[in-house]
Amino acid sequence: MKLLLCWVVVGLWAGANSAAAAALPGGPFPVYRHAAEVQSACERGLAGAKSRVAQLERRRGDDRWITSMDDLAAYIEDVSGPIFVLTTVHPDKAVRDATQACELRWQDFDSTLKQNEKLYRAARQVKPRDAIEREFMKSTLESFEDAGVSLPPKQRRQAKALQDRITALAQQFERNVRDEVVQVALTEAELQGVPPSLWAEAKRDATGRVLMTIDDATYFPLMRNATDATVRERIWRADTNKGGEANLKLLAELGRLRLDYARLFGADSYADFTLRHRMAQSAARATRFLGEVQQAVGERERAEVADMRAAKAQALGQPPADVRIERWDAVFYAEQIRRVRHAVDQEVFRKHLPTQESLLLAMRMIEMLFGVKYSRIEGVPLWHPDAQAWAVSDAATGQPLAGLIVDLYAREGKGSGAFVWSHRNSATRLKRLPQAVLVTNFDRRGLTLEDFGESLLHEFGHSVHNALSRTRLVSQGGTNVLRDFVEAPSQMLEDWIYERNVLDLMREVCAACPPIPDALLAQAKAAKRFGLGTRYARQALYASFDLGMHGAGAPEPMPLWARMEGATPLGHVAGTMFPAGFGHAASGYAAGYYGYLWSEVVAADLRTAFDGRRLDPAVGKRYRDSVLAQGGQRPPQDLLRAFLGRDTNTQAFFEDLKR
Ligand SMILES: [Zn+2]
Repeated sequence: MKLLLCWVVVGLWAGANSAAAAALPGGPFPVYRHAAEVQSACERGLAGAKSRVAQLERRRGDDRWITSMDDLAAYIEDVSGPIFVLTTVHPDKAVRDATQACELRWQDFDSTLKQNEKLYRAARQVKPRDAIEREFMKSTLESFEDAGVSLPPKQRRQAKALQDRITALAQQFERNVRDEVVQVALTEAELQGVPPSLWAEAKRDATGRVLMTIDDATYFPLMRNATDATVRERIWRADTNKGGEANLKLLAELGRLRLDYARLFGADSYADFTLRHRMAQSAARATRFLGEVQQAVGERERAEVADMRAAKAQALGQPPADVRIERWDAVFYAEQIRRVRHAVDQEVFRKHLPTQESLLLAMRMIEMLFGVKYSRIEGVPLWHPDAQAWAVSDAATGQPLAGLIVDLYAREGKGSGAFVWSHRNSATRLKRLPQAVLVTNFDRRGLTLEDFGESLLHEFGHSVHNALSRTRLVSQGGTNVLRDFVEAPSQMLEDWIYERNVLDLMREVCAACPPIPDALLAQAKAAKRFGLGTRYARQALYASFDLGMHGAGAPEPMPLWARMEGATPLGHVAGTMFPAGFGHAASGYAAGYYGYLWSEVVAADLRTAFDGRRLDPAVGKRYRDSVLAQGGQRPPQDLLRAFLGRDTNTQAFFEDLKR
């Protein structure tokens, strides 16, 4: 099974008052057409940042130190943010290579900055004047200390060397996955069951076989529909082995380097080291939580696998005891059960949800809920003709609030999955407007209901967090919040699409789009419940593996994975290597994957405030003011208390799992 969850990518240090652009709120997005342009922009940006650091070093830790640091964060965002974005979306490999080389230089700058003793000494003298400044100073001092600034010189040098090596290896890991084109050659007979519109226009090899590229837009439609099990097995194996042996080696080394890093600080494991500043507070607490999730869904998962086995036995005309569900069967038979029991076929939603119109529908929903307006800006030069520019403004006052760039369709060389780059954050003290880039890999034929909820609305949650944030400081803007909280506002919105009144907004943006009938929607809602056990169990497994490989002793990832996956009802398939493509474990999300499930608990709790009134602008406004607008300037627990009127709890999440 592929990762369904998104990446939300936040700025470097978590941060120029460049003049506002004429059209796109937050300023024009620099589009580099040649590698040389990237290189010179990179040089200029770094030189500017270094001279600003030199000025900062001369400052005492007085009452203007915080704004000076935040000015630097804003400058860094402006000059480096777009370069990080382009690595994932630019169509020209030479430009992507140049942006990646530049990223390494910025990471080097960042790790050097965080070890800057002069700045650290000044920081320790700063006396925060209010809660916002206290929160800023807490995270700033933690960043310095976690980078090793207070270690003895020898260990400090080791920390920097380790950090730089980790960054380079993680980048290599991601590049291996992004640049690998996975193709499977299939005859038309082998494509039986798969909608012809998915493959009719694909390239063919010399013998006339369809060359199917396995990416985000094709994987699930193929796995749900291909009736030939050997075909599904080939696709599943090709996808599961993405990244290959090279990435397994990188991942193992990353685990060891992170352990070495944590040990410099006296921690037993990287998971312990990194979780002490999160909502979860410790690896033990996160592990306990994952155990509770596993406990809550275990029975459901086993029942679902039994149902799939019965469906397969019936399809093959064999007794259930004689068949087993293979990994490449799970998606297929879960879908068959949904079709038979609930008469729901995800493919049928595409005609109701054309891709561009779905974007407009999501925007209309956000407009209703949060009192904003989206306006398309034509003629903004961007990296690809598919990318579109939008302005977000306040519906009541007409004031511009944010810029948003959207890049919807799958193409070669584009980063997989769906994600938001929150590359520019708001700051009221600078009258600075935020800007984000929302990236998906959708099919041009339209969306499934799952695509709509779990990808489009989810990513909108991140982009709205960016757009509606009104923090005083750039460094605390939008999604600059704790990593085990950052997914909650996105996950909360995922099931909004199952609401009739939300779907009815389609009439306003596309009069010609056929509405989804009530009966079909009700069936889709019921069908969504099937597979919940398997899905949560899988998420808990990914999270436990990620914590495990970053645990004490940094065990070798592949044997650990084979053992952990081997203990699940579907077992481990020898010769496959899921960890080779598990970008979260390799990247800065290391030991942080549990955050997706942790955030789901918060999302379920947040949703209780919207029960029966998903489009209520009064609740929307309260949420906008008390959660979204606050970004990271107060701890998540405080924001949740302000919105819910009580402490957050796990009740809604676990009750829903038992339902
Ligand atoms: Zn997300």
